Amino acid sequence: MAVMDGCEAKKRTPELREFSCPECGELMEAFVKEGKIVEEAKCDACGYKMEADSPVPEK
Ligand SMILES: [Zn+2]
Repeated sequence: MAVMDGCEAKKRTPELREFSCPECGELMEAFVKEGKIVEEAKCDACGYKMEADSPVPEK
């Protein structure tokens, strides 16, 4: 998908984003707002859980 996005008027709307799990590197997805996930997300591969309000891991 786009290399850079989310720099427009979408900042206040949670977006579904994919990112790599910090633990195992598998793709997981969560709703993100202002660089933080808005609700708990869990990695399907390893079970790693990210709490709401955690910063999105950037690669
Ligand atoms: Zn994982």
